[in-house]
Amino acid sequence: MIEIPVELGDRRYPIVIGHGLARLLGDVLGDQKGRRVLVVSSPKVWKLHGPTVSRGLRSLSPKGPVLFPDGERHKTRETLARLHDACLASGLGRDGLVLALGGGVVGDVAGFAAATYMRGIPWVGVPTTLLSMVDSSIGGKVGVNHPKAKNLLGAFHQPRAVVVDPAFLSTLSAREVRSGAYEVLKYGVLGDRALFRSFAGASPDLREWERAALENAIATSCRIKAYVVEKDEREKGLRKVLNLGHTLGHALETVTRYRRFTHGEAVGWGLVGAATIAGRKGLLKDGARAAIVDAVDRLGPRPRLSDLSEGALLEAVSRDKKAEAGRVPFILPTSIGRVVIRPDVTLGDIRHALKAMRACERTGL
Ligand code: NAD
Ligand code: MG
Repeated sequence: MIEIPVELGDRRYPIVIGHGLARLLGDVLGDQKGRRVLVVSSPKVWKLHGPTVSRGLRSLSPKGPVLFPDGERHKTRETLARLHDACLASGLGRDGLVLALGGGVVGDVAGFAAATYMRGIPWVGVPTTLLSMVDSSIGGKVGVNHPKAKNLLGAFHQPRAVVVDPAFLSTLSAREVRSGAYEVLKYGVLGDRALFRSFAGASPDLREWERAALENAIATSCRIKAYVVEKDEREKGLRKVLNLGHTLGHALETVTRYRRFTHGEAVGWGLVGAATIAGRKGLLKDGARAAIVDAVDRLGPRPRLSDLSEGALLEAVSRDKKAEAGRVPFILPTSIGRVVIRPDVTLGDIRHALKAMRACERTGL
């Protein structure tokens, strides 16, 4: 079992990682004993893992589960209202606890319900997708979508603990695992050379890695995210480095209306783009650029992008919500394990990156 503290003063919490922890949830969350616990999950996740989690939680006598269908289109104010109703119906008081079992959608909505019910009650994350294990469950960003904008309504509300059991991944689709793997690779590129190297020669399906290797890859990712969150909880500066690969990635998601790429696949493409721009600007040696492109490529096929309009993509980049005075700051790698934030990426640089991305497109998806 690996424990990583997120040091945020009196809101400090642990991320606990280990195969089989779902069966031991009551022990791992022993210090929450005495609270009224409400489990929130989705029908799909609960069907697959509910029995194990229920047994693991027996000593906490949880209420629920409250189930809502996950998937981005259910990350709404309506779902949030249903969760508030369920908190009330279960008799949760200010000392209650919401336990979110599921992917990023369940975590974001259940965490936001906890943030807003009675002006904020504690919550715990039990992530079941790779993306939620290494990213969304850590850092306290919670929220729902507005019909006109993703994640428009939200809060910062840190969990009391995050419990990561990689055994949940056994039931996840290969595409969802791959999607999370691109984010893990991102952590390697931005902050950990050894993590990056662990991808070389390994199976593109992270579930085929040795247990210890997978736990380490997840732990290293969580450690980087925790470090960045500790230094910059509210995303004023450093936390932006986590957006490596995301500027071009978001543009791909936007122009395809979130229907073609999973988030991680778009980030994978964005990593190729960021490495290419860094190379063009003389920030990244060609060998390192090629290693990044190669590592992305080895993880597997991503939906094509060559049919997308260059104009629409450029426009989407410039409308990025992180744009400052018309310029979008780009996170660019300067070596494997190091990045810088650069405000001087030009349209020419982006065009060049899109060309390189198209050049490494494979057919088959
Ligand atoms: P998701 O929650 O929609 O889950 C993806 C699919 O996997 C769903 O169909 C779900 O039912 C299924 N699933 C979940 N666990 C499973 C398991 N163990 N076995 C089989 N199927 C399983 O998607 P996600 O990728 O986990 O999360 C995406 C969301 O996370 C987005 O809404 C995004 O905005 C959010 N996010 C938030 C943060 C943050 O800091 N809060 C960071 C990144 C992403
Ligand atoms: Mg991301």
